[in-house]
Amino acid sequence: MTADSQMPEQQKIIQVAVPLPVRGEGLLCYDYLAGPAADSPIGTIVHVPLGSRLVWGLLMGHGSSDDVPSPRLKEVAALADSPPLTEAHLRFLKAVASWTMAPFGMVMRMMLSTPSAFQPPATETIYHVGQRADETQLTPKRQRIWSFLEANPPLPAKELAQETGTSPAIVKAMAKAGLLESYEVPKQAIIAQPNPDHKPVTLTAAQQEVVAGIKGHLLSGYSAHLLDGVTGSGKTEVYFELVADQIRAGKQLMILLPEIALTAAWQSRFEARFGVKPVIWHSSISPAKRRHIWRACLAGEPMVVVGARSALFLPFTSLGLIIIDEEHEAAFKQEDMVFYHARDMAVQRAYIEAVPVILATATPSLESWVNAGQGTDARQSQRYHHWQLSDRHGGARLPQIEMIDLKRDKPAAGKWLSAHLVEALQETLAAGKQSLLYLNRRGYAPLSICESCGAKATCQACDSWLVTHRLSGARQCHHCGFRTPLRPPAEDQCDDCGAKGQMRAYGPGVERLAEEVGHLFPEARYCVFSSDTMARPEIAAEMLRAITEGEVDIIIGTQMAAKGHHFPNLTLVGVIDADLGLAGGDLRAAERTYQILSQAAGRAGRTSTDGRAMLQSYEPDNAVFKALASGDRDRFLALETELREQAEMPPFTRLAALILQGPDEHQLLQVAKAMAEAKPQFQQVDIWGPTPAPIARIRGRHRIRFLIRSPKKVNLQQILHGWVADVKIPSQIHLQIDIDPYSFL
Ligand code: ADP
Ligand code: ZN
Repeated sequence: MTADSQMPEQQKIIQVAVPLPVRGEGLLCYDYLAGPAADSPIGTIVHVPLGSRLVWGLLMGHGSSDDVPSPRLKEVAALADSPPLTEAHLRFLKAVASWTMAPFGMVMRMMLSTPSAFQPPATETIYHVGQRADETQLTPKRQRIWSFLEANPPLPAKELAQETGTSPAIVKAMAKAGLLESYEVPKQAIIAQPNPDHKPVTLTAAQQEVVAGIKGHLLSGYSAHLLDGVTGSGKTEVYFELVADQIRAGKQLMILLPEIALTAAWQSRFEARFGVKPVIWHSSISPAKRRHIWRACLAGEPMVVVGARSALFLPFTSLGLIIIDEEHEAAFKQEDMVFYHARDMAVQRAYIEAVPVILATATPSLESWVNAGQGTDARQSQRYHHWQLSDRHGGARLPQIEMIDLKRDKPAAGKWLSAHLVEALQETLAAGKQSLLYLNRRGYAPLSICESCGAKATCQACDSWLVTHRLSGARQCHHCGFRTPLRPPAEDQCDDCGAKGQMRAYGPGVERLAEEVGHLFPEARYCVFSSDTMARPEIAAEMLRAITEGEVDIIIGTQMAAKGHHFPNLTLVGVIDADLGLAGGDLRAAERTYQILSQAAGRAGRTSTDGRAMLQSYEPDNAVFKALASGDRDRFLALETELREQAEMPPFTRLAALILQGPDEHQLLQVAKAMAEAKPQFQQVDIWGPTPAPIARIRGRHRIRFLIRSPKKVNLQQILHGWVADVKIPSQIHLQIDIDPYSFL
């Protein structure tokens, strides 16, 4: 490292982190001649040449990283038109990279994913009344524009045309004729400020107690709070109260929701409470909005940003509070490029920014449960405050949960509804109420087999079955998206033997269940609610409206229908295959099944009418169902905690998955063998594998896995870095590292 003072001004060198996917223990920084960045602080966003391109990077250090700087350094091309990132934000990015073992460049790239925000704001032309016109000479349209502007502030041509039912061409023509004057102004939408006192609710005594408890910590730096309450107990109202407090203090707030696309109801509640819509952030908002939000964050504008996981990387500068709703949701885990858990990283960010974080849920993840000091012995310290709300607001009761034993009450072949459930559906229909049938399988049938040769319809690129989708008329691979058109049954041909009309559907999907419902209750109004039918936001909004307003009798839905919605008329929930999530032996199978089924059951009786839920199962005595039926959630968590501790599994130990992928199976096996030979030997660190991944081929790439387990106090990342550095991995082979894996596929 050379001190700046020893160098002539024009030779200043800086270190810039660049967006390359190169893994390593440190940051990947290159030296550049500082150029325009000579006096810029660390955290400045700079445009630098990299190969033949220009890329955005971050200034991470002054002075060369080499003792002898290379004589052929390239120069920084430009600076972003934005303030530098805060020191806390930089620390956060480093923490994410070092925890997830993702290349720093890739973490940085997620954060810099809005390059338009680094340009100075564009300008736009606005129009206002100019010279007084002789009104008798104005056409009616020109007259309308003129009158409008006399009473209103200046507007761009397009908006003016919209307001007056004219066209931008007419506005421009008027300006040309000198009737209007035009001005160039920076184009900057204004973020509407939520009003903390717009429409407060009167909290119940129990809710007030929690609010007061958390408020006691709001101003004292980092603290973490598990807000644990049954569905409908008012968790949202409680955290809205804390949000109001932080809005009053002029702070920025980040609220993470697992599935932003389906939060229309949440957004209207926010609007009803605070008078304006929240700022929404996710990957498919318009570039103009992204850019505006990004800049406003960095400028420290007070705002409430609601987003999916990517909101975590926004450059907030005056964060006051982070909220993670439905903290138990697996959707917070990103499994692509940078493998991170947004909940865990949000807690990390709160810690670094020294602000409180609230994790809200009706069914805590085991991780958070243990962090809240539950189900552990005295050795484990309580890291989260634990706040409980145990009653539904307004006296609505949690639904009765009833098990249906499919061994005794078995539907006919090719049918999926037991006699018991059919009867309950009938009663609910007769009472004019709504039912939800929950089955977490998209499409018509998960499997098709040729009656003639016995071959299954499979994907060419993956080791998986093709799922029949009748509504969209295709067979689809749910792993790679491959689709082939579905021909009419008589012409449907086997890919293997070529026989026609021999393909038979096996197993149910929501579409097939809808068919059964249609036959049983021809008079009932039903809808299929899944990511296929809800893909377009307009359609989703319309379906949600129809359901909420009681225009649907039976909802047949996947997970998407089971979570978070408030359907006032719904009193019966039928779970078609309660065992589905328990198969496969995943670490979190029981926990997840408990969560999703209690969520699904919780859709029933959200208002005062008592709801009921019926779970069809082949093993109704399973501990998960017993806990659900008895409503003893804490007992279930205690039991599950005990099992995990005995098995030395997370959250009591740490897991990591290493997945090798490549097009050539032979080459892949060789690399796996080399990795196996280089396995590090540490006491108490177990390495299992190599084994073919359960889905051994996806998108034409073969996959092999290792699973590593270590005690929590061991620096697992360091061990993995050492191991990976020891093996030469050819460029055709891709190595994924997944710390705290949620998916074992
Ligand atoms: P949760 O987030 O725990 O599921 P919500 O905050 O959504 O619970 O509350 C459930 C329902 O009860 C909502 O319609 C909410 O507006 C209403 N509610 C909760 N607390 C109150 C309160 N103190 N006053 C009025 N309505 C409330
Ligand atoms: Zn596929």
